[in-house]
Amino acid sequence: MVSYKDLGLVNTRDMFAKAIKGGYAIPAFNFNNMEQLQAIVQAAAETKSPVILQVSKGARQYANATLLRYMAEGAVEYAKELGWEHPQIVLHLDHGDSFELCKSCVDMGFSSVMIDGSHLPYDENVALTRKVVDYAHKYDVTVEGELGVLAGVEDDVKAEHHTYTRPEEVVDFVTKTGCDSLAISIGTSHGAYKFKPEQCHVDPATGRLVPPPLAFDVLEGVMKELPGFPIVLHGSSSVPQEEVDTINKYGGKLEAAIGIPEDELRKAASMAVCKINIDSDSRLAMTAAVRKVLAEHPGEFDPRKYLGPARDNMKKLYIHKIVNVLGSNGKAE
Ligand SMILES: [Zn+2]
Repeated sequence: MVSYKDLGLVNTRDMFAKAIKGGYAIPAFNFNNMEQLQAIVQAAAETKSPVILQVSKGARQYANATLLRYMAEGAVEYAKELGWEHPQIVLHLDHGDSFELCKSCVDMGFSSVMIDGSHLPYDENVALTRKVVDYAHKYDVTVEGELGVLAGVEDDVKAEHHTYTRPEEVVDFVTKTGCDSLAISIGTSHGAYKFKPEQCHVDPATGRLVPPPLAFDVLEGVMKELPGFPIVLHGSSSVPQEEVDTINKYGGKLEAAIGIPEDELRKAASMAVCKINIDSDSRLAMTAAVRKVLAEHPGEFDPRKYLGPARDNMKKLYIHKIVNVLGSNGKAE
């Protein structure tokens, strides 16, 4: 048993309470490797933003559970070395799909876990989430539950269509499960292909596709039922067009990749949404930089020469999200 407290990590409780009051949201950036982690820590340390390091089941298998624990501990020490005196860093399991996986993460230094029972019948979702909460809270680990189903693909999580969260269910769910935060479905979606072109309209000024708006009435309904309760948005990458263009210019083939407009995320962050998950955008930033270097320097085979620029490009993206979308800069001095 390794407690996250020994690794210098924090859970999400105080972080979310402050974010809701302050009208901003905490970035939850997924990571799989060292360069991503370096970029996240550098961006958070430079902007003094609380940050959630987020790992999916697939990423944990990819990176190795033991190595991850030391990477998280290293992230805290690295942040201090960068001059961030009191780093506020969470290690969070994204889309836990079983009690056993959540328990294993709690036992190996995670400070927060998500149990995603959103695909289950309501009562089974409640029972599974309650079981995880009972275990996690013994160790002061915070738990995110989910109600409603997001469309899109993320690791093993797949769904064809959205099912919006039903505001009339949220009080019962939160009361029965004791979860600390709730992921809801209001039209965000996993992956880089969040919408079909026929769902969108064309912006006459830019010629780009504009997706249908998020269901803010559902978010408002949830906020009315659960005043002051931390809400989470998954699938909230914006799919920056310049990264998609770079990828396609240098041999890639991403067709009609569409994300969530950043002004909608900014609006959500000013409301009860206090955790916004961003994964695809950093994948795009990384891939764009790698493709550009390898296309322009075909003789290059030192990984540092393409992973270094990839890291810099991701860091730029993370700082942009923190400062211009989430508003979490300066909140963890
Ligand atoms: Zn998700």
